[in-house]
Amino acid sequence: MDLNYYTFGNTSIGIYTKGPVGVFLSGGADSAILLYILMKFGANKIIIYNLLHDRREHLWKEPMQKTVEICRQLTGFKNYDVKVIQSINGSMRIYEINQYFQQQVKEGIVDIVYTGISAFPPNDVIVNWPTLPKWLYESRKPNQDKSPWGMEFSQSEMHKRNVSPLALTWDKTIYNPFINKDKKDIASIYFDQNLVETLFPVTRSCENDSLSGIQHCGNCWWCKEREWAFGRLS
Ligand SMILES: [Zn+2]
Repeated sequence: MDLNYYTFGNTSIGIYTKGPVGVFLSGGADSAILLYILMKFGANKIIIYNLLHDRREHLWKEPMQKTVEICRQLTGFKNYDVKVIQSINGSMRIYEINQYFQQQVKEGIVDIVYTGISAFPPNDVIVNWPTLPKWLYESRKPNQDKSPWGMEFSQSEMHKRNVSPLALTWDKTIYNPFINKDKKDIASIYFDQNLVETLFPVTRSCENDSLSGIQHCGNCWWCKEREWAFGRLS
């Protein structure tokens, strides 16, 4: 894959400029900064993939829409389309999303798909945080019929995994530039690009279903991670 590499803090991100790229936008801070970087540093055409779970739209729809809008305003980039993937009953697992992206590449809709999947904080940091739900690990198990996802990590392996960001799929069309980077590394890109007052506040990390839109409970695992990395929730 022909990528132009840029360094942000201690993170290197390769930008593909030869054709359309996909970005898996979650509404969280990690994929938001990825979208911003692609728009600002030379992507040609972007397909923004939004995964919307039918019962959790009230959480993610607003941060996704506002993230796209702020990135567009800040960079002036307009050559993008938003594609919504509807997940019914939360049934879509990561390997299924991955297969969907590989299909998009196969059909020539995009040449490569970027995801914002990042590493967990160090184990001594998370020791007193709430326990992570089982679905998080379940959702990362590889496909039974040996799909080339291969991303099965135990909790102890979730921090800085030393895997190649392009090697998680056999055809190297899914790119995970933050796979060995934790939230503090990502926060340093926000500070570096001066986005803490603009882009950061429209993203959501909180997984508490009782709060809609861009709100943070401050107590769940993801709020703890956000506060640890950025020193603030919004
Ligand atoms: Zn929360």
